Amino acid sequence: MMNELSLLIKPVGSRCNLACSYCFYKQITADRDDEKNVMSDETVRVLLDRVFAVRPSALSIAFQGGEPTLAGLDWYDRFLTQLAEKNTRGAPVFLSLQTNGMQIDDRWAALFKTYGFLVGLSLDGDRTTNDRFRMDRAGNSVYARILAAAEILSKHDVPFNVLSVLTDESAYEIERTYAAFRQEGFRFLQFIPFVDEGTGQSLGNDAYAFFLKRIFSLWYRDFQAGNYISIRHIDNYIRILLGDLPENCAMCGVCGRYYTVDADGSLYPCDFYCRDSDRLGSVFDSSAFTGSEKHRTFLEASHQIHAFCASCSYAFLCRGGCRRDRTDALTKNRYCEAYRAFFEDAFEQMQHVARQIMQQTGGSTG
Ligand code: SF4
Ligand code: SF4
Ligand code: SF4
Repeated sequence: MMNELSLLIKPVGSRCNLACSYCFYKQITADRDDEKNVMSDETVRVLLDRVFAVRPSALSIAFQGGEPTLAGLDWYDRFLTQLAEKNTRGAPVFLSLQTNGMQIDDRWAALFKTYGFLVGLSLDGDRTTNDRFRMDRAGNSVYARILAAAEILSKHDVPFNVLSVLTDESAYEIERTYAAFRQEGFRFLQFIPFVDEGTGQSLGNDAYAFFLKRIFSLWYRDFQAGNYISIRHIDNYIRILLGDLPENCAMCGVCGRYYTVDADGSLYPCDFYCRDSDRLGSVFDSSAFTGSEKHRTFLEASHQIHAFCASCSYAFLCRGGCRRDRTDALTKNRYCEAYRAFFEDAFEQMQHVARQIMQQTGGSTG
């Protein structure tokens, strides 16, 4: 039986060297003082012992923050050395890291290349769009430094995705953003809706619907011209139409079984649920990765389906969306209107693309 284990590790918790005004993680950890926070060698040792005690058939490790490179290159050298030593059964390991790019130099890029990391680089759009919310602690632009990081990653042949946060403003700027990304040669893109539980200043349905429709038509035009740009949510919709499972848990309709590991070894069920009330325990618990009633309850909550979804003709494609966007079975997904508007607009073209891929590949998306 497959026993895959997915971890999202925060080596420095929410510690970061930028001060983006929309920072999600800083908001939910505002009461914590973790300016010097870094996962100790002892915590790493216990974490990896617990991981291999459950004999995973494959292991996916994503490093995130805050800014995970603040742990330092030596920390990663030690982590990766221990990982190799403890992986005595040779389970396949998939490594990724999400960064704001500020620390990326030749040494970091060489480490990513050596260990086969997939990197996620945060950049919201062109200079105007990016500078609106992403800034250093003095309020200065970091746009040029992010582009410099992209150049270093490219020079070392490190694969990377550009991660772009969508706000009410940037959603309407998608044409400019897409053109800027294309001009820079970025071919792997991911767009993440900005959701602020505290103030309610989340990306709205109108803006999201506009974005979904517009980005699809831009992507479609390029696809038909033989210029394939990977955009994660579109790739996943096409996968579903081809009969594959989405690789993004937020598009599966149910929560994935993975663990977010904070710097102190605390375990949470998802990066969006790193609150004290959602804490599952710690790597120092001997049963850390063997499943718990609390984790099961969390996962099962995502199986609740709103009546709207049960009768929706696009449910097989949308699957009700990410659990974070629907509080419970009585609450419709906050982006339902945007999804429906998008599906009504683009469904036929998506089907057309799926048929084209099927003809070219014999049905596999790889
Ligand atoms: S780079 Fe990421 S973690 Fe750091 S302040 Fe910006 S959004 Fe927050
Ligand atoms: S809340 Fe969303 S992102 Fe988190 S595990 Fe559930 S589906 Fe995935
Ligand atoms: S479009 Fe709306 S009703 Fe249909 S599956 Fe998605 S969230 Fe549910």
